[in-house]
Amino acid sequence: MPCRSGVIMQPDQLIEEILERLWTLREQGIAVAPDLGQHGFDFDPAPALVEATQRQWVTGRNGRLELTPAGEERAAAVMRRHRLAERLLFDVIHVDDAAMEAGACELEHTHILSEEATDRVCAFLGHPPTCPHDRPIPRGQCCRKFTNSVQPLVTPLSEGSVGADYRLVFIASRSHRRLDRLCALGVVPGAVLRLHQRTPAFVIQVGGTDIALEPEIARDIFVLPR
Ligand SMILES: [Zn+2]
Ligand SMILES: [Zn+2]
Repeated sequence: MPCRSGVIMQPDQLIEEILERLWTLREQGIAVAPDLGQHGFDFDPAPALVEATQRQWVTGRNGRLELTPAGEERAAAVMRRHRLAERLLFDVIHVDDAAMEAGACELEHTHILSEEATDRVCAFLGHPPTCPHDRPIPRGQCCRKFTNSVQPLVTPLSEGSVGADYRLVFIASRSHRRLDRLCALGVVPGAVLRLHQRTPAFVIQVGGTDIALEPEIARDIFVLPR
């Protein structure tokens, strides 16, 4: 997925783009040329392709480029993160299609969904089988267990306990002004925060600073207990 979010992609992210492209082209039943030439990358895929080949994630076979078993595993993890991020944005944040593509891309590349958070988000969303475009989401450990052993521990901050520490997973707000304001205060995915007070306003501590939040905003901030 070409990244329109302005995030500069790192070498590993270029490789992930290639794995993702191989995965989706295969889903569409399209054979992939060994040099990826005509498959519409908006960057030169050659160096990342060499790297992916050296890591033995892709291989040429019968004039086609294919994923190796190791590459398959890696690609499945990338697709899983991407499509769960889409589901999250679509179901929880209710963004539209174009914004979702950009957003999911950004989520994926900045690894806001860590491996651990990915399974938690999956459980939070009820282990969805498909993304909003009806493409299958590769299953994770959490889906295979068929038990409650992976708790959907991602909860709104508004349900948090006073005195407890949390790690911010995502902010479900469509308001850019609100996101910018929170961002300027260090309230960003990955930030560690402590909930000091719930009424009359929520007060959190982030990096030594106390910040008051309206309950409406606390409901938009999703966290994991630490
Ligand atoms: Zn999708
Ligand atoms: Zn799951």
